[in-house]
Amino acid sequence: MTRLSDLGPPITGKPHGGEPAREIDHFYFCRTCGQAVDKRDLRQVIWHEQREHKPLE
Ligand SMILES: [Zn+2]
Repeated sequence: MTRLSDLGPPITGKPHGGEPAREIDHFYFCRTCGQAVDKRDLRQVIWHEQREHKPLE
């Protein structure tokens, strides 16, 4: 199983205006594996965009 740390250091984004989001707004659930994905971390987003993958540890 792939670990988040196997994907390298965090790749963080920046907000684009507006009010600071609530913590819950930073996450969505992957349609493939059902794991919660932190949209602020591009590593996680890219991992879960793969057609076939397993949840990260
Ligand atoms: Zn996934």
